[in-house]
Amino acid sequence: MNIGFIGLGNMGGPMALNLLKAGHQLTVFDLVPASVQALIDAGAHAVHSPAAVARSDAELIITMLPAARHVKAVYLGEDGLLAHVTRGVRLIDSSTIDPMTAREVAAAATKQGNPMLDAPVSGGTAGAAAGTLTFMVGGSEADFAQAQPVLAAMGKNIVHCGASGNGQVAKVANNMLLGISMIGVAEAMNLGVALGMDAKVLAGVINTSSGRCWSSDTYNPFPGVLENVPAARGYSGGFGANLMLKDLGLATEAARQVQQPVMLGALAQQLYQTFSAEGHGDLDFSAIIQLYSGKV
Ligand code: NAD
Repeated sequence: MNIGFIGLGNMGGPMALNLLKAGHQLTVFDLVPASVQALIDAGAHAVHSPAAVARSDAELIITMLPAARHVKAVYLGEDGLLAHVTRGVRLIDSSTIDPMTAREVAAAATKQGNPMLDAPVSGGTAGAAAGTLTFMVGGSEADFAQAQPVLAAMGKNIVHCGASGNGQVAKVANNMLLGISMIGVAEAMNLGVALGMDAKVLAGVINTSSGRCWSSDTYNPFPGVLENVPAARGYSGGFGANLMLKDLGLATEAARQVQQPVMLGALAQQLYQTFSAEGHGDLDFSAIIQLYSGKV
């Protein structure tokens, strides 16, 4: 299939490469020449604007952009996709943005005859490279069915979450819980160790008891408990604390719009904001444990 791809960063770059590997033809655009070059080297055709992607022979256009303002610019701007795309071309935005903006952009696309899905991902850069991302998809059942084979070239779990915007809803709800649970595990681990317990023994008890969760058994933030996690390598790599801060901001803002209390989500956001303000936003988000260990 001829596919357009805009946003070739840490996630979009490897995702686009996986589409090429699956045999699709790609027309790509990014503001960063080096990111574009990597795709040209792999066989993609590059153009110089979202409008040019829209005017290419792409039957489907995928975007993977940093935040809502970039998504609005790329879709709704003068030189953007909607002003230039042919009726019937399908659109998928995989950026993580707030559900309201996702619904607004999808409504504008649908109104002019371009079916659109929101399809944010989890799985990080490793999942993007391995083609094992989880896609949380919002939009109609029929559009989801059409998109599934293409998404399957980039991901392993492809979940239809309901109507437009619901992919973003699933993403913000999950990541808010992840942010909260990571802080909970950090707090509990530090308490246990301060009271005299061995960290590994404590983690073993938690992981076979009711406190067990992904943050404790797969991604434990306490150094020395697990190998091959950011805590074992000075919190480098992984999912940056600034990205977690972004997602918690999306969750609290979305919650405000529907007057839904998110007490723990708001507290988690403030803790990550403090951590980021101290200059640690580039560390993996599990480094939030340093708020308890006196290193921040
Ligand atoms: P990134 O900053 O590495 O890449 C974004 C790319 O978009 C950049 O190459 C940038 O040049 C490009 N871009 C920005 N504005 C543009 C425009 N107007 N036209 C064309 N290109 C433009 O970000 P990323 O890590 O790839 O993340 C992308 C999205 O995926 C974000 O919404 C992020 O929250 C989400 N996400 C990231 C991760 C992760 O681990 N990095 C995991 C899950 C979800």
